[in-house]
Amino acid sequence: MPRTSFFPESFIAQIKDAVNLVNVVSEVVALKKTGRNYQGLCPFHPEKTPSFMVNEEKQIFHCFGCGLGGNVFTFFMQYHHVNFPEAVSELAERLSIPLPKTSAGERTSEAGQPLKEELRKLYTQAAEFYHHLLMKEKIGQKARAYLTYRKMNPKIAEDYYLGFAPEGWDRLVSFANQKKIPISILEQSGLVIKKEKGGHYDRFRNRLIFPILDEQRRVIGFGGRALGEETPKYMNSPESAVFNKGRVLYGLPQATPMIRKLNQAVIVEGYFDLLSLHLHGFKQAVATLGTALGSFQIRKLKGMAEDLVLLFDGDNPGIQAALRSVSLFQQEGVSARIKVLPPNTDPDSYLFEVGSERFSAEIEKAEPMMTFFFNQQIKGVRPQIQDQARIVDRLVPHLNALNSEVERAYYTGWVSEKLKIPESVLWRSLKDSKTPRRGVDRIQNSIKEEQVPGLEWHMIEAILRIPRAASLFLNEDREDFFESPEARAVYEAMQKTYQQQGEVNPGLLLNHLDDQVLKNRVSALAIRVFVNQKDEETFLSDLVKRIQLRQLQQQEKALYREIRSKEKSGITEELRSLLVMKKDLLQRRKEILIASKG
Ligand SMILES: [Zn+2]
Repeated sequence: MPRTSFFPESFIAQIKDAVNLVNVVSEVVALKKTGRNYQGLCPFHPEKTPSFMVNEEKQIFHCFGCGLGGNVFTFFMQYHHVNFPEAVSELAERLSIPLPKTSAGERTSEAGQPLKEELRKLYTQAAEFYHHLLMKEKIGQKARAYLTYRKMNPKIAEDYYLGFAPEGWDRLVSFANQKKIPISILEQSGLVIKKEKGGHYDRFRNRLIFPILDEQRRVIGFGGRALGEETPKYMNSPESAVFNKGRVLYGLPQATPMIRKLNQAVIVEGYFDLLSLHLHGFKQAVATLGTALGSFQIRKLKGMAEDLVLLFDGDNPGIQAALRSVSLFQQEGVSARIKVLPPNTDPDSYLFEVGSERFSAEIEKAEPMMTFFFNQQIKGVRPQIQDQARIVDRLVPHLNALNSEVERAYYTGWVSEKLKIPESVLWRSLKDSKTPRRGVDRIQNSIKEEQVPGLEWHMIEAILRIPRAASLFLNEDREDFFESPEARAVYEAMQKTYQQQGEVNPGLLLNHLDDQVLKNRVSALAIRVFVNQKDEETFLSDLVKRIQLRQLQQQEKALYREIRSKEKSGITEELRSLLVMKKDLLQRRKEILIASKG
């Protein structure tokens, strides 16, 4: 089923017109204006120098590192891992444009509402319910006392919309019944659990509740801290259609302004660590949901700030978690700094122990992650030769895996000094065990080969880059011109766009292309900018000549075929006129060639 059938095409065009790709990308990638394009670090592949481009006028993006490109829908789908109808409805919702009545293809609830919307509505109602109990009700006294014990104030409880799920099995269940929330939605939310013998009971009981918000500040899930002896001490609501633990960071919506302002994000693991940091004014802090940091979260943060500081508990699990995060950051090609706190402390307890000023100094002292990593590796290594040989074997792959030559040189020198091994020895080991080329290089190469453009692609490029080329090339029927089926598909989509809009805006054109490979190719061509007007003129006039020549060649070929067939039947009037035409064609070709030399 073609995806446009989910929504009327006019509706999709309306959304596309109303939304600015630059704004949507800026939410997650720090963009800098360079000439007519914006540039930033690609959120889809690891990189340290920006090869990700956005063009506002054309409403397209393209990454010259991994080759991905497209328009606002492509970006939204790829970044947020949603399908096309979901991308359209999410963007519509942000713009407050009402959706056409429920579209086919989307998962809907029994009531016919889109499932995600129903879930978010329920989570919001549940958050309000829990929050009210914490702040206003007598029953919430116990939880309020616990917050005081943890040195949290009511403002924090307000800012993070904390809540309280009291003891008892059916508090939320009966609240939901009152509110007439369909039981199927309640089940899918994970906030209630189905009993074997029928009926349901609350998942969160006797817990302090941390509502988890997405970047649009909508409630999408919950964390809960036991107030009694319940196990586990912390738990999260299960993943649902709107909640994916690896993709959200607790406190991110509240922290975003400060992260951007300071160009720094401080990352912790626990709910209370985060609340303590914010209470003490470290409003650039975010937390994973008590779990290890994942690659998706790293990509999200790298687009927001350059200085990423990871804080870990001062115990062995903390150090192990820090080491694991180093390899993950390396995979993503992102740098971070690491601070492991003193033994037997976590960010929450340490902050209250030493106060903001000292804590701030500790954050500043966080080590570059590779320094931390190599320090951990050589810790306790004895100066004996066996130990030294073993450690060199272990370190070499890590030195080779460093993303930049500068880093490799720096850390090779560093290791050499720490272990008292001549640098030349290390360098020889590095050369001997060269790691295979990185995946990204391979992708890049395959794209380069594939994109050697022929005349057909040059014509498409011209239409994409030079607005007036559309009327030059799109008015004629060029059925025979295209040999490549891909180029023909793009050309046909261009004609369609041109007929509808009177122009070919690349962002709009991409709505008519389904194949992601074609989108990548089109965005790569469209995002290039001419250095000056003269280059543009030359490009276009050369192209016009080459196309004329190609057409002449095709005509010649056809003519020769005809002449040969006529020759067999002897010289006739017909053949004579064909020969005249041939002479004429050759003359025109000569003229074009002479003109192009001049
Ligand atoms: Zn990329």
